[in-house]
Amino acid sequence: MGENRLEIAQVPVLNDNYLFLIHDPVSAETAIVDPAVEDDTIAALDARGWTPTHIFNTHHHWDHVGANLALKDRYGLTIIGPAADRDRIPGIDIAVGEGDKVHLGDNAADVIFVPGHTSGHIAYYFAHDKALFCGDTLFAMGCGRLFEGTPEEMWSSLNKFMLLPDDTAVYCAHEYTMANGKFALTVDPHNDDLHARMKEVERLRADGIPTVPTHIGIEKATNPFLRPMNDSIQETVGMIGAPIPAVFAEVRKRKDNF
Ligand code: ZN
Ligand code: FE
Repeated sequence: MGENRLEIAQVPVLNDNYLFLIHDPVSAETAIVDPAVEDDTIAALDARGWTPTHIFNTHHHWDHVGANLALKDRYGLTIIGPAADRDRIPGIDIAVGEGDKVHLGDNAADVIFVPGHTSGHIAYYFAHDKALFCGDTLFAMGCGRLFEGTPEEMWSSLNKFMLLPDDTAVYCAHEYTMANGKFALTVDPHNDDLHARMKEVERLRADGIPTVPTHIGIEKATNPFLRPMNDSIQETVGMIGAPIPAVFAEVRKRKDNF
């Protein structure tokens, strides 16, 4: 372990998306995670003098794959994406799933299968650098909408993330933190850590500062979608002692209607 090997650049695009550039200075290989748009991606690469060798896609939504074909055409890069979704990932070269490893130079990322937001969604976890690229599965104080999955699937996907070290940096694909936090307070109103975090988030957002990446530890303490086992949340939603996936489902439903 020790010092990080990878350089990670976070690029805000569209209204509230982030895409990420992962650069290995040893091999000079560079991956683009979920390129929504072409021009901002090229500008971010050029600003750093990085030539992309890979795209890592987390899921098929247009705001994550929109520039796949244009960037492949321009750079001749290799596109890696979810095996369960290979027909919906434009230009996919290598399809991966749970337990597979992808490499950037000598750096390995574990592929984690995390269905729920979409049926094929995957995440990429670089264990050495403790960096998780989770697409639209986990957000700061939130989680992805269940477009193609059940609450049970999403809950088991989020549980895989909760096994990662608390100091794992979580690179989520959207800046939804302020809205997520406002909802979180409605189901977890007695959580001092949550109140403290919201003060900090309000300060950051007032200055236009990103709240991504977040970390697994603070999410376990403040994200209601990781806390359906919490007595106070169960009491607030009127489900004391209910099965934990059912509490998760109720919290997700309330967020959909918030
Ligand atoms: Zn999505
Ligand atoms: Fe998205």
